[in-house]
Amino acid sequence: MIDIRELNKQFGKHLILDNVSLQVGEGEVVSIIGPSGAGKSTLLRCINMLEVPTSGLIEIGGRPVAYKANRQGRLTYRSQFNLTWLRTEVGMVFQQFHLWPSKTVLQNIIEGPCIVKKMSREKAVKIAEQLLEKVGLLDKMNDYPAQLSGGQQQRVAIARALAMEPKIMLFDEPTSALDPELINEVLDIMVKLAKEGMTMIVVTHEMSFARHVSDRVVFMEKGKIAQIGSPEALFRSPDSRITQFLSQLD
Ligand code: ATP
Ligand code: MG
Repeated sequence: MIDIRELNKQFGKHLILDNVSLQVGEGEVVSIIGPSGAGKSTLLRCINMLEVPTSGLIEIGGRPVAYKANRQGRLTYRSQFNLTWLRTEVGMVFQQFHLWPSKTVLQNIIEGPCIVKKMSREKAVKIAEQLLEKVGLLDKMNDYPAQLSGGQQQRVAIARALAMEPKIMLFDEPTSALDPELINEVLDIMVKLAKEGMTMIVVTHEMSFARHVSDRVVFMEKGKIAQIGSPEALFRSPDSRITQFLSQLD
């Protein structure tokens, strides 16, 4: 489903992603953990081309997103490469919800389907209502983001991403900006999605999610995948770097 090979990303002289390779199968849930500055967000942002990798290959559902660098060191894309297709295929949820403040909850959700997918408003509203039901916010449909709690805003952001009917969902610390008592309402939705078979990559500091919901856990450090394995294997006998990282969390 997602095939990342030898991905490098440089910002100026700094190598932020260093030869990262990762394959994620359909329906798989992969958590990415690791210290600040490890390159976790950059990796997610490369997958949906919010950042352009310096070199390497990313395939989504068998379609190449980035080719290797050419002789001039610039990445070349295949000619049919289509950012709209990619953004439809891959949904993303950020730490800071990034809802449009001047649009209602409903408008936030139907904007993508109507504008990008050219869906009829009627159909988009129907899908939005189903998704709001799923995230437990049908009654907030006509509210503005500022009228909602952080947890509610993040659930709207998840519904908005799902409205594009993506095959893959990327989450970048979706609960890190939330008060502790609101974290579970967002995690519950993510667990539900995982159980439904959504392919997910989740950057998280929620170790219980990483441990109990993900199929595999990736530990990133200094731009590299330092460890990868089942949660059982990784947490049962964590190496010293992971132990040190975990001890700093709380
Ligand atoms: P955190 O846990 O704090 O979110 P992270 O693992 O997500 O950290 P990234 O945000 O991917 O880390 O950043 C990795 C490194 O890349 C950091 O040193 C950061 O300063 C650098 N970096 C990220 N984006 C840019 C950019 N646009 N320009 C220059 N440097 C950047
Ligand atoms: Mg980050």
